[in-house]
Amino acid sequence: MNGDIFPGRDTKPRLQSDFINGLLDHRPGATKHRMRWHCKLKQFQEDGPEKLLVVSDWDRTLTRSTAEDGSDQSTCSVIANSGLLGPAFSRRYRELFNRYRRIERAPELSDRAKSRHLRRWWSLQFDLLLDCKFNKRTIRRIVSERRPHLRDGARLFFGILRECRIPLIILSAGIGEIIEARLEEEGISTDNIAIVSNTLTFDPDGIAVAYQTPLIHSLNKHARHVAFIPAPAGRRNLLLLGDTLEDTRMAEQIRHTLLLSFAFPADANHLQVFQTEYDVVLAPETSLEPVNDVLADICAASRNIEP
Ligand SMILES: [Mg+2]
Repeated sequence: MNGDIFPGRDTKPRLQSDFINGLLDHRPGATKHRMRWHCKLKQFQEDGPEKLLVVSDWDRTLTRSTAEDGSDQSTCSVIANSGLLGPAFSRRYRELFNRYRRIERAPELSDRAKSRHLRRWWSLQFDLLLDCKFNKRTIRRIVSERRPHLRDGARLFFGILRECRIPLIILSAGIGEIIEARLEEEGISTDNIAIVSNTLTFDPDGIAVAYQTPLIHSLNKHARHVAFIPAPAGRRNLLLLGDTLEDTRMAEQIRHTLLLSFAFPADANHLQVFQTEYDVVLAPETSLEPVNDVLADICAASRNIEP
């Protein structure tokens, strides 16, 4: 990525996270603990990018929740929507999605009840991929059409992290090969990014023949046997992005002192529940601008720029 990714900030830095302050002024519910938010933000700014680590979910967090045509933008859904694996795959995938997605999103269900269903759902999905000969050609076709759609502001988000040398860990219950290919397609696959996700084994013809187990699903991202998190040492401030209540558990995998968290919940009916778990709760299709503002403030503060 070329050019200054902080246009105008050297002459007029926004050290008060303008977007967030606007949010606090006009939507007091966006963050429940205003004082706590300001204290954390101040500490993050004082510590600068050298102490910062970002961990983020991928599906419906770094990607849009839905495309303009309303189609779901998870890595698995874009395969089904493409039709590239045939109508039988798409039909069966949608049957599973319609059955299990509502369970995944039901805040009233216990973890134990949900987990059993989600383990089953993920196994069925990945078995289906193998049965229908999911392959590298399909991945290339999907990402060449710029799917899944990245959330607005994502290119700047990746640019700031790269420019300020801030490590980003993407912890996803999706398909790692699609995430990797999508970042490469956008030209934003850089060495500050680590992807921890489900991976497939391909035969010499590029056809998927196996998948790694245990599968990472949306509820078990905190389980130590599931994912090895390559967190660098000395990064005590953690910025976390997610779209589900359970995404906050990603923080349990990473040693940190302070946590700032942003949610992009898909379901506006459960905003109050999200506000107990996250520092800032945004509308589902909000751009990453609030996050970019905070990141830019942290980086600008370390440059000793006077407002
Ligand atoms: Mg997600």
